[in-house]
Amino acid sequence: MKAIRADLLDFPSQPTWGETGDHQPRWRPDHWLLINDLGHIAAIQQEEPAAGIERHDHSGKLLLPGFIDTHVHSPQLPVLASYGTELLDWLNTYTFPTETAWQDPAVAARGTALFLDALLAHGTTAAVVFPTVHKTSADALFSAATQRGMRVIGGKVLMDRHAPDGLRDDVRGAERDCRDLIERWHGQGRNSYAVTVRFAPTSTPEQLAMAGALCKADPTLYMQTHVAENRDEVRWVGELFPAARSSLDVDARAGLLHERSVLAHGIWLDAEDRARLYATGAQVAHCPTSNLFLGSGLFDWRATAPAPVSIATDVGGGTSLSMQRTLAAAYAVQAMQGQRLTAWSALHAATRGAAEALQLQGEIGALEPGLMADLCLWDWSVGAVDAERIGRAQGLHEKVFAWLTLSDERHLAATWVAGRPLFTRRTA
Ligand SMILES: [Zn+2]
Repeated sequence: MKAIRADLLDFPSQPTWGETGDHQPRWRPDHWLLINDLGHIAAIQQEEPAAGIERHDHSGKLLLPGFIDTHVHSPQLPVLASYGTELLDWLNTYTFPTETAWQDPAVAARGTALFLDALLAHGTTAAVVFPTVHKTSADALFSAATQRGMRVIGGKVLMDRHAPDGLRDDVRGAERDCRDLIERWHGQGRNSYAVTVRFAPTSTPEQLAMAGALCKADPTLYMQTHVAENRDEVRWVGELFPAARSSLDVDARAGLLHERSVLAHGIWLDAEDRARLYATGAQVAHCPTSNLFLGSGLFDWRATAPAPVSIATDVGGGTSLSMQRTLAAAYAVQAMQGQRLTAWSALHAATRGAAEALQLQGEIGALEPGLMADLCLWDWSVGAVDAERIGRAQGLHEKVFAWLTLSDERHLAATWVAGRPLFTRRTA
């Protein structure tokens, strides 16, 4: 057993939109969180732990559940911050050439290790991940996550058209690869398989149907794709699938929408799409830094809810693996539409809300006995400017909102996965 002393913040339930009151989160300052030898949270208490329990006193620091990034690409760290394109040109100019290199298993293994360690160094302990079309890229993801004990959801990307040589599969080969990966990795340790359709334009109708059949055959599988991200993409989907009434309809007709579906972006949906989304139980992974950087559009969170909305970096279209930077961008995207995203709604979406949308609330997303001890420990401030601002905050919401807006990975002191310390900041 070990125990960590800090200020604990999490969410037993969904905060009310726009409400900044202190009762929205669960705030337990100066508490001890006890971790058992299986890596589960054993207890949370104010009193000192019993003698013999290893103590880690981090008084004055903030302890949150590890962040959950619901849409991120493991091979795309090298294309971060690429100049001058929107989605379709960005894919062809930067992303596809980079992903092609992952057909080499050594490149995929090295890149995946770098990627997962980077997530941990940003306070993210669970992620829904796109690797590449290559089967070995999914093997690399699951084996590196298993080594670290991390919760990951991912799968080999399906794309059998409109992609360059070296990045296309075919329906039969892809199905064989998916079945093999599912058998070896799905439900093994903390890995889950996601049927992974890049987006409708890069799969033939036959491949989409195959993906839908895989989902239908096993309702414990996840599904991930991109939908309605960019106006040119939406127009292109309309040309490729003239019988469908919308981009979302293409996915729906293929049987890809269910309560374990994670749809990245969802900017250009209409009211009928949103009603359908809600009815299927699928969630939208909102990726604000990506949407701003690629000029894709402003996601309407209020109109999309009550469908579940989680938060994602979408690196490398997104500009940072930091969930605080991503949440600060989400605030700005809502502000552009006359809405106010509270610190409570933002943090909930990146922790408990994402866990619930993924049906993993029994494992991650909160600080409760029985859940895995996936934790991150943060400094309230690391410099003179944020210290000045945080020091003047009146009340809990103002303090947490200022922290969320001003902080990033430099504020991370430590990350634990299943109770094991996997990141500790080097101190000079
Ligand atoms: Zn993406």
